[in-house]
Amino acid sequence: MDISVVIPLLNESESLPELTAWIDKVMTSNNFSYEILFVDDGSTDNSWEVIQQLQQANGQIHGIRFQRNYGKSAALNVGFEAAQGDVVITMDADLQDSPDEIPELYRKITEERYDLVSGWKKVRYDSKLAKNIPSKFFNWTTRRMSKIQLHDFNCGLKAYRKEVVKNIEVYGEMHRYIPVIAKWEGFTKIGEQVVKHRKRKYGTTKFGLNRFINGYLDLFTIMFISKFGKQPMHFFGLIGSLSFLLGFIAFVAVCVLRLCNRIHLTNSVWFYVSMLFILMGTVLFLAGFLGELITRNSTYRNNYKIKERL
Ligand code: UDP
Ligand code: MG
Repeated sequence: MDISVVIPLLNESESLPELTAWIDKVMTSNNFSYEILFVDDGSTDNSWEVIQQLQQANGQIHGIRFQRNYGKSAALNVGFEAAQGDVVITMDADLQDSPDEIPELYRKITEERYDLVSGWKKVRYDSKLAKNIPSKFFNWTTRRMSKIQLHDFNCGLKAYRKEVVKNIEVYGEMHRYIPVIAKWEGFTKIGEQVVKHRKRKYGTTKFGLNRFINGYLDLFTIMFISKFGKQPMHFFGLIGSLSFLLGFIAFVAVCVLRLCNRIHLTNSVWFYVSMLFILMGTVLFLAGFLGELITRNSTYRNNYKIKERL
């Protein structure tokens, strides 16, 4: 099979028939063999009934339905596990992403050998204040931290080589950082394609303002896990030791001053500062040590993904 289209959706029943017809038109006119995987992320409207009807009319459509709303990342993860096509395309269900982009995305993966091609909504039809400006800032930080040169990390329209989606795990709100996760798993040929973006035709946006806070916290988690996930001591042990050392030096200095009768121990702010640093250092060091013990006992500690064997 050439292409799997994975579509996470939450209450998008009005868009689904139009979207399906459009994808089918593009696939048929390009002679692609394909499947559409709708992942219903706990919709409370009649999205699932619509998917059932569409499936009856077209056997290339498949559906997975969550018991409740788990979030876009969870929906994508389940879609990735089920996808069978050589190239996996993800897109939003709300008709903001255009299926006309699929042939070019497919070509970039198969001919130009990209691992991942992300859409770039260069001209964007969302509210300026709530989406466009924050997303510029968000993309800038992610670019700086991950060293991946993409303009639009969170674009729902993306194409992947099959091995990529089978080797990455997306959870929480981490769908915003799939290129970062892919790079960390060793898929480094990441490209970008300017895509047409459209106004939301039906329904409303499913992401409120809390996405800014959660989004940033997830970025730190990802960067931290990729750097220190397997050796927490390298992080906590280092700053713990530094803090302990500083505290110890300050303590020695305070003791010397006391012995020369220059200060009273309990009157000197430096005495308390030195104690604080020694304590903080010990706690951080312990945190690192506990982290190491936990990773040592984790069943994932020697979980490496092997690309080939001879
Ligand atoms: N979505 C989902 N689960 C959620 C939230 C959103 O599957 O908990 C889907 C939603 O139905 C849509 C896509 O994710 O297909 C993108 O959501 P939306 O269009 O609301 O985001 P925006 O374009 O406003 O950033
Ligand atoms: Mg949308």
